[in-house]
Amino acid sequence: MILKLARNKPVGCKKHLKDKSSYCALCVFSSLILMFTITSCTHQALDKNEMKKFDIVTIEALENKDVLTKPARDVEFPLSTADQEVIQALKEKFAHENMAGLAAPQIGVHLRIIVFHVDKIALEFREDVEALVPLTVLINPSYESIAANGTNNDWEGCFSVESIRGKVDRYKTISYQGFTPEGKEVKGVANGFLARLLQHEIDHTNGILFTSRLKPENVQGPTEEMIKLRKQEIEERKAKCD
Ligand SMILES: [Zn+2]
Repeated sequence: MILKLARNKPVGCKKHLKDKSSYCALCVFSSLILMFTITSCTHQALDKNEMKKFDIVTIEALENKDVLTKPARDVEFPLSTADQEVIQALKEKFAHENMAGLAAPQIGVHLRIIVFHVDKIALEFREDVEALVPLTVLINPSYESIAANGTNNDWEGCFSVESIRGKVDRYKTISYQGFTPEGKEVKGVANGFLARLLQHEIDHTNGILFTSRLKPENVQGPTEEMIKLRKQEIEERKAKCD
């Protein structure tokens, strides 16, 4: 479940994926905390009509501007049936769309709830995956940067931004906190891709899209062009690795 990967090595190298011999204490700590936050919603799967009201909203449609660009509301405990439905919808949408993370504002719900995981597929696209993380729900999440560890610049896209992708500067390490759906407080430290993912998703609950983190000097552009550029980068890294 927990993979320790060497830093600064190209992605896509099978030999690196074999390196499971040493575990980073921080990764183990963070992953253990996160594993305790896995939640099993006892609700039945939502039907098609119920899911439709939770369709993904995009910034390109003007009516979604408020929900995507204003801070969301805190969730109160114990969760209401409506809150539990939102969590169920996030999980179902998440599984269906093969995402790394999803925040409630992205399905038109102005609440501070996120779901995320770090799956094996991330190993193919990211150089800085330090541990795999199972599906996790965090409520009222927040983060603080650990600025001393610096920042890195890497690709980001978003299901709520159809037109643009780019490379965003993010803190390499953050401390984060939030609550499980049962109201239990969760605290941890995240590194590398997990730190990026949490910053992106928690930003959604603060009404911040990755596009507002793009600086003029960052690589950015229309989605199709950026997908090609990213694919090219991955191929080049793989070629160096072989
Ligand atoms: Zn997003």
